[in-house]
Amino acid sequence: MTLRRNILPKSRGEMMSTLANMISCPLNYYVFNFVVLPRYYKMWSFEYNIHFIIIIITTFMMYANMIAMIFCDTSVKGRIPSGTVVKDWKYCEKCEISAPPRSWHCNICDVCILKRDHHCFFTSCCIGFHNHRYFFMYLFTVAFDAFYMSYFNFYYFWEKATFEYTWTSLLKLLFPFISVFFMEWSSIHFHFIIIIETFCFGLMAGFLFLWCGYLITRNMVLFDKKRAIIYERGFLENIKVVFGERWYFVWLGPWVKSRLPCDGMNWEKYM
Ligand SMILES: [Zn+2]
Ligand SMILES: [Zn+2]
Repeated sequence: MTLRRNILPKSRGEMMSTLANMISCPLNYYVFNFVVLPRYYKMWSFEYNIHFIIIIITTFMMYANMIAMIFCDTSVKGRIPSGTVVKDWKYCEKCEISAPPRSWHCNICDVCILKRDHHCFFTSCCIGFHNHRYFFMYLFTVAFDAFYMSYFNFYYFWEKATFEYTWTSLLKLLFPFISVFFMEWSSIHFHFIIIIETFCFGLMAGFLFLWCGYLITRNMVLFDKKRAIIYERGFLENIKVVFGERWYFVWLGPWVKSRLPCDGMNWEKYM
C-alpha cells in the first residue's frame, strides 16, 4: 500500500466534520457499553460480555478499516511520472499529466484520484481505486454497530423518555439539547443525544452501504452513474475490482492481502 503523506483535513468545514466523527464514535460506545447495556445485563456477566465482545471486535474492525482508508494513497502521485502525456487520456492541467480514464481531479486533495468515487468529509480523504475496499468495510461496520446498539438504545430511550402531549415535550425528546434552554439539562439528555445520533449514523451508513454495494456489483462509482455504464465485467469480476482476488477473506480486516485484478488506470470498455 502506498501511504498518503498529508492526512490532515484541508478546510475548516472538513476539520469540523472529521472531528465530530472522531469524537462521536467513542461516545456512542461509552453510552452503549457503560450506560445502556448494564441496564439490561449485570456488568461483566456472561450475557453482558457477549454483547461487549461483539461490539469491541466490530469497533476494532471499523477503526482498522478507517485507518487503512485514510492512509491509503489512491491518487496518481508516484504512479504516473510528471509530464506524462498519453493519447486518448484527458489532460489534467493542475497535475500536469494525462489522467487515466475514470480518474478525477479532487479540488480538496488537489490531485487526480484513480477511479474516484467521492471525497469523504468525515475522514478527510478521497475514496478511489485503492481504498474502495476499506471504505466499504468501514461502512458495513459502522452500520452494523449503529443498528446493533440502537436495538438496545431504543428500549432504554423508551423506558427513560417522559412525554407529555405538548409540542415542547416532543421537541425536547427529538432534540434533547433544547432542554438546555428550559434549564432541564441532565445526563439523561446527553444519553438521548448520543442515542439519536447513533441511530442517525446507522441510517446514513446503512443507506450508503447498500448504495455503494449496488454500484460495486456493477463496477461503477458515483461519477460513472452520471454517465453510461461501460466498465461492467460480470458480477464476480466487478467484486474483484474492489475487493481483489481473495475477496471472500477481506471481512477479516484490512491486513488481509488481496491483489487487485488491474492497475486502476487502464480500463477496458465492456459495454
Ligand atoms: Zn489532477
Ligand atoms: Zn479528495
